[in-house]
Formats: sequence, C-alpha cells, structure tokens
Amino acid sequence: DATVDRIAAGEVVERPASVVKELVENSVDAGAGRIDVTVAAGGTERIEVRDDGSGMSPDDLELAVTEHATSKIRDIDDLEGGVASLGFRGEALHAIGAVSKLTVRSREPGASKGAQLRVEGGNVVRQETVGCPEGTTVVVEDLFYNVPARRKYLKSEATEFSHVNSVVSGYALANADIAVSLTHGDRETFATEGRGDRRSAIMAVYGRDVAANMVPVDGTDEPGPLADVGGMVSHPETNRATREYVNVFVNGRWVTATAVRDAVVEAYDRQLAGDRYPFAVIDLDVDPATVDVNVHPRKLEVRFADEDGMTRQVRGAVESALLDAGL
Ligand code: ADP
Ligand code: MG
Repeated sequence: DATVDRIAAGEVVERPASVVKELVENSVDAGAGRIDVTVAAGGTERIEVRDDGSGMSPDDLELAVTEHATSKIRDIDDLEGGVASLGFRGEALHAIGAVSKLTVRSREPGASKGAQLRVEGGNVVRQETVGCPEGTTVVVEDLFYNVPARRKYLKSEATEFSHVNSVVSGYALANADIAVSLTHGDRETFATEGRGDRRSAIMAVYGRDVAANMVPVDGTDEPGPLADVGGMVSHPETNRATREYVNVFVNGRWVTATAVRDAVVEAYDRQLAGDRYPFAVIDLDVDPATVDVNVHPRKLEVRFADEDGMTRQVRGAVESALLDAGL
C-alpha cells in the first residue's frame, strides 16, 4: 500500500542526511574502495552516491528497491542490538524510494552490462539495461516531493548540508582506507585519499592546521566498561570556538553518542578554562552487549549500560593525552 509505505518511510527518513547515511553505509558494506557523494541544494534537490563496490545483479537490484530486502548476514550481536546493526535492516532503499524519485544503477564485476531502475513515490516507472561502470550509483531527487508535511520541516539548505557534511565526514574518518569525497553543487567540500591513515583523512576533512596538531589518545588506567579508548584530539590552540567536532566510533562504526562527546568536552574544560571547543576522533572498543542502539532508526543515539564508567574512562584518556602533550 503506497500510503502506508509513505508514512512508514517518513518515519525512518528524516532529512537528506539520513538518506546519505544509509547510502554511504551500503557502499561501505559493498566493499567500495571509493565513494563519491554529490548533493544539490543541501541534498533537498538531489543526492548522488557513487561507489565501486560489489554491485548488484539486475534481479537483486529489483528486489532491493521494491521489497524490504537485505542480503546481509548479520551475526548474533546484531540481533541483540549490538552496534553493528545500526540502520534499518533491508528497508533503506525501499523507504527512500517511497518518498523520492530514486534511480539506482549497478553493475557487478565481470558483468557485461548494468541494470538501471527508476522508482517514483514507491512505483517502479522504468527498468532498463545500461552501460555503466562497475559498482553502484544511487540518485535521490526531490526528497519528500510527495510528503509535503515532511518537506515543510526541512531546514535551510545550509543547515541540511551541514548535517550531510557531518555524516560523510564521520564515514570518511571511520574508513580511512576508502577514498571518500563530498561535493555540494559544483564545489568539492573535501576528498580523502583512502590510503588508510587517519591523520591524512583528518587533514582532508578538517584541514592541515588541525591535523598537524592532533594529539594521540592512548588508553586510560581508569577502570570501566571500555576495553580501550583510542583516537586523536586537537591541540587546544587549534580548537574552534563555535561548536565541537567530536566523532565517535564504537567498534569501528560511526555513531552519535552525546555522553561520549560531553566527556571529551569536559576533559578540555578541566585542562583549560574557556570556550574553545575541540576536534576529536574517539575510538571505543567495547563489548557490544554493553551498548544499546536505540531501535528507532531516526535516533541513532548509542547508550552505554555503565555510562558513568564510560565517562570516567573517556575523560581520563583525553586528559592524559593532553597532559602528555605538555598541557
Ligand atoms: P540493508 O543495507 O539493511 O541490507 P538496504 O535497503 O540498505 O538494506 O539495501 C538492500 C540491499 O541492497 C542490500 O542488502 C544489498 O544487497 C543491496 N545494496 C544496496 N546498496 C548497495 C550498494 N551500494 N552496493 C551493492 N549492493 C547494495
Ligand atoms: Mg543499508
């Protein structure tokens, strides 16, 4: 039922950044070596995500957009709500197609031709064989064109783009071995090289000054639920005043974790008074059973069973990193 689909999709797809997140995650899952994201008007007019990953056969492509389908074998941690299950399973492309004009083009390695499918408001309107590079290109146009109530809630193009930028930056930093680029209109925002080193990814995303002055985070003696805390944090002199840029990765997955962000900011507050906010990339190693991902796909907030312990460990690790750097 198209109406039901549209309502359900409106629940799971909140804004351009949520579309981008799902598409980039699919490209990562497909083993891409490069992912190019291009958006127009903050993603409200057009979103394109192109990858050189494993692609889909014509049959799988049809299945992927028309039904709640997933090809992904998930382990037991996923079923128990571990962090690997971020995102909604087998629903993303279907949901996106219900509330936009969706074109997916894909070719498997070795296949002589690719397949292309066009979906408008949940209906397949065209299906054809095309010549295309190996991998997958997904184009999402006119998001919420058929859900005016939701379209009305989109913010300015600049605001929508800043959310898109956060998502793509997060994945670029999490996957330093993938060349990730982001372009808004005809302007490239950043492009990582995909050589696998974190610092050069940070340089591409945040700039040379920030990257050159990052301080490594290397664990903490504080007891707590985390097996390890790693990453890099900015030297306070390169901090920006307006807001913080704290990217959190739990077992390699980029997540939203307000409590971790707060712990990082607190560590800076103790080292120096003031309102200069940090750049940080924080890697947490943790038993998935002690982490909870809110099941509602729009709220990708990760929660820790022992939040106080986590906070002590993250704060301790960042404080020692800053002390080691002579601060
Ligand atoms: P999920 O990712 O949870 O499986 P999606 O709706 O996001 O669900 O995708 C459905 C299926 O389409 C995936 O399981 C995968 O088989 C296929 N797919 C989607 N995007 C890509 C891509 N970029 N490359 C290869 N296969 C893809
Ligand atoms: Mg997916």
